[in-house]
Amino acid sequence: MKRTHTIEQIIAAPIGEEATLMGWVAGRRDLGQLIFITLRDRWGELQCACDPTESHEAMLAAEKLRSEFVVAFNGMTRPRPEKEVRDYPGGDREFVVRHVEVVAQAETPPFVVEEDVKASEEMRLKYRYLDLRRRAMVKNLTVRHQAVTAIRNHLNAQGFLEIETPLLGRSTPEGARDYVVPSRVHPGKFYALPQSPQLFKQILMCSGIDKYYQIPRCLRDEDLRGNRQPEHTQLDLEMSFATREELFTLIEGTMAAVWKECLGAKLQLPFRRMPYDEAMARFGSDKPDLRFKNEVQDLTELWEGTDANFINDGVAQGHRVHGVFVSGVSLSRKHLDRWTDAAKELGAGGLMTVELGSEKPAGSVARFVPEMAKFEAASAPDLKKSDEGKGTWFMVLGPTAKNLKIMGQLRLQLGKHYELINAGFWGWAWIVDFPLYEKDEDTGEVAPAHHAFTHPLAADLGKLLSDDPEELLTIRADNYDLVLNGEEMASGSLRISDPELQRKVLKKIGMSDEQIESRFGWFLEAFKYGAPPHRGIAPGIDRMVMKLVGTDSIRDVIAFPKTATASCPLTGAPADIDEAQWHELNLKRLK
Ligand code: ASP
Repeated sequence: MKRTHTIEQIIAAPIGEEATLMGWVAGRRDLGQLIFITLRDRWGELQCACDPTESHEAMLAAEKLRSEFVVAFNGMTRPRPEKEVRDYPGGDREFVVRHVEVVAQAETPPFVVEEDVKASEEMRLKYRYLDLRRRAMVKNLTVRHQAVTAIRNHLNAQGFLEIETPLLGRSTPEGARDYVVPSRVHPGKFYALPQSPQLFKQILMCSGIDKYYQIPRCLRDEDLRGNRQPEHTQLDLEMSFATREELFTLIEGTMAAVWKECLGAKLQLPFRRMPYDEAMARFGSDKPDLRFKNEVQDLTELWEGTDANFINDGVAQGHRVHGVFVSGVSLSRKHLDRWTDAAKELGAGGLMTVELGSEKPAGSVARFVPEMAKFEAASAPDLKKSDEGKGTWFMVLGPTAKNLKIMGQLRLQLGKHYELINAGFWGWAWIVDFPLYEKDEDTGEVAPAHHAFTHPLAADLGKLLSDDPEELLTIRADNYDLVLNGEEMASGSLRISDPELQRKVLKKIGMSDEQIESRFGWFLEAFKYGAPPHRGIAPGIDRMVMKLVGTDSIRDVIAFPKTATASCPLTGAPADIDEAQWHELNLKRLK
């Protein structure tokens, strides 16, 4: 038999159409006088009836069918009896089978292929081909394909060239550990797999390719917390002579094209733009979740004149009070303890609360409030009319930077707990002008916050001469992150195109002249022969698809992902190599 229709096609065809379908047995219900088989292919599922009044042969064959057999069914569609009509695609019809051919038998699978899959993730990854038969997974892979197709179409139409850069190269510093590959021909030498195509895309700009993109795999050997994978996919993009606004418009248009193609959604353009300092001050985060307001406010002045010594003493030391207001909430003892624990876990000494709209002062520090009217006025942006003036201030006392970090996190927890998030809203924003450097939490040393090729903001260039690490930390970069619903979707920047400035920046992060020469000499050389100003960005494809399909797990949007220990249960990678390979690669086991 030859396949004539996919399930999607037979569902779209008029009822009564003759067809040969091919697919997998997804389910079987034997009613004695009739056997129903649910047939599944990539395109859908359809109820097929093996009815002896239509075909005795089909009925006999259906008795032998088991889950996941590959079959060919020849027959035609007929309407379902009225009371059995369902409102899913194809729920108005069934396929009456005349001839059955078993194309391939299947052993009993280790887990049932069903939407509400019961298997552990380890099992799903070991038998990934079974897991990928599930409709949700087919949908995820389909949306991923649609997203990258929309990206390619959009960028190609703007004159971009898609160019591949090498997998085997030298280290590209993005702040992670490299995966390395031993060279057989150069004993004792190694290639590094790219953490990103950063250096090559900048070289392409020096070649005069003014609009480049690629959708490459980027490899980073990191400890895999949560949603990290050793290899992730980016839309890697670079442009010469482009202003920041031109790049923003291009990326906004690309995202709009993707959202339209995959979800039929119309994104509101342009996205909001917000300097890093403002995002930190208003949301306590460099990736603010803009699906709800409840901004972090500095309430220190509202405490002026209080007789609470701990507040007065704190403020005298330079500490501040920062808080978030949640409308309609009043806290029981139990809830106050819960939120106090949450604040302490985030590093606060304690939590201060003031409730508005209660008859007598309520909240842990309400009795110290000098003038309640000021707290009421400050709550106005977040107070819902229907709550009639009721609500709670959640506050912490401490140094500003620490407060903002704590309140930023607490704001997210409050948003989730009290359902403040507007789930139907896409909270896009450009966060711009981050610090160029940050202090590495482990080593205490000054390290590039984005990467070493980012250009400082012109206004802060002079500070690069400083040898004071504290002053270096105040330099802002000409960079930007694209944020969606509180998550970073992309980072990019204006690049340094002056080789002397690049050298200076590499030195500032502790590289010696010899190290610079040996690792980046070739790169700096390219900038001597006419380097255009250029900027770029790299949105993460996996994250983007996660948002489009609404999953929290990156492993749901990658066909063959790795586990949290960077292994592949399907193939058993990483695995040992033959003795001959050890020898050939000039490698020796330490033990
Ligand atoms: N190479 C950077 C990254 O992988 C992105 C960029 O600056 O274009 O994060």
